[in-house]
Amino acid sequence: MTGSASSSIRQVKLEMESELRIEVGHDSALRLRLLNGSAEIFGSELAPGIWLSFPSRLKFAVFTWYGATIEMDGSTETDYTADETPMVSYVNVHAVLDGRRSRAKASSSTDSDASQGPRVMVVGPTDSGKSTLSRMLLSWAAKQGWKPTFVDLDIGQGSITIPGSIAATPIELPIDPVEGVPLEIPLVYFYGHTTPSNNVDLYKALVNELAQVLENQFARNAESQAAGTVINTMGWIEGTGYELLLHAIDTFKANVVLVLGQEKLFSMLRSVAKNKPNVDVVKLQKSGGVVSRNAKVRQKARSYRIREYFYGLTNDLSPHSNIANFSDLFVYRIGGGPQAPRSALPIGADPVANPLRVTPVNIDSNLLHTVLAVSYAKEPDQILSSNVAGFIYITEIDIQRKVITYLAPSAGELPSKYLIVGTITWLET
Ligand code: ATP
Repeated sequence: MTGSASSSIRQVKLEMESELRIEVGHDSALRLRLLNGSAEIFGSELAPGIWLSFPSRLKFAVFTWYGATIEMDGSTETDYTADETPMVSYVNVHAVLDGRRSRAKASSSTDSDASQGPRVMVVGPTDSGKSTLSRMLLSWAAKQGWKPTFVDLDIGQGSITIPGSIAATPIELPIDPVEGVPLEIPLVYFYGHTTPSNNVDLYKALVNELAQVLENQFARNAESQAAGTVINTMGWIEGTGYELLLHAIDTFKANVVLVLGQEKLFSMLRSVAKNKPNVDVVKLQKSGGVVSRNAKVRQKARSYRIREYFYGLTNDLSPHSNIANFSDLFVYRIGGGPQAPRSALPIGADPVANPLRVTPVNIDSNLLHTVLAVSYAKEPDQILSSNVAGFIYITEIDIQRKVITYLAPSAGELPSKYLIVGTITWLET
């Protein structure tokens, strides 16, 4: 190895129950490996001696229960060791959940309550570490052979698919520290906006749909029923955000609510739970390692996430540029369609646009740079209740020739000609 390359290699010794917190440099990747001892990244164990490459900007921690030596190669924005972490309390929660899974598995499958594993909802303000805790709980469960279902209701910074969606996927193996949640078979509903206030009714309707589909799957699959779910939620916890949390708790029949880092939310949810004897509300400390992100950083993160969908985390995917005639594609918008003036309506009719109305959208230059969902609907009236196959990105619109150019994850025909547009846009950089 050349001198310059080796000069950036360094070793870090971690004492038991401590972690190395890293933010990878903004323009460079970082390699890291476990030299000795044992360590994990957000619940996923590191294989000894194997180099892992982390892309720029990734923020993560290497935690060790019993002590470890880590070797790093490359530049970081920050890296430091912390010995105060909430990991013991997190793993204690895991142990309780694990006991509930075992009891559910052992019970007769005819008793649907007893055979139901934990349905865990992780709540808290923005940047309290909800996604990270969800990930740890899922990885620890998967390590023990369970196949819990991960549900992500966070339309702002979701970890399953692109922003503006809610989604669920089974977790069969500890989550890869670099790649994140596997994307093979997610069940995705497209809401189309990054904040629920754009259309609260639509958000609720999609949460209901997702919960219903999962409920039907669990009824047929005792193994995933016993493994239970871990549900990540949005950081919007005031006003309507709080109302949506309560709606999600009821809809998914959550029986464990983990509240991260906010006393007020904890006490509000605890008083609500007084009337719900099956719901345990547990307060957990926020990790000091969670990195706060301002609006600009969040916007950037959303943009990277869309890029990652099409190109892969390390440019390892090659999306296809496709061409279609305007007449081949049918674009719809849910809610918010043009509002008729009161004078144009029959007497007594409500002029407020129906938030769940599905309206056709003309293909014109307004669609340039939007991200559209490809619905599984067979007819337009199924769009609201259908999940989506994936996404396309409009790169060019030729009004004269009535031709649209779009980027899709793969070549060939789209699984459906029905597309949903919201307010998600992206500028490819
Ligand atoms: P949101 O506001 O989007 O809902 P959140 O509450 O889900 O955020 P996370 O996404 O879990 O928060 O964490 C925010 C960032 O902090 C992530 O980039 C995550 O990888 C990082 N992070 C979390 N815990 C640690 C840690 N212990 N050390 C270093 N980085 C961490």
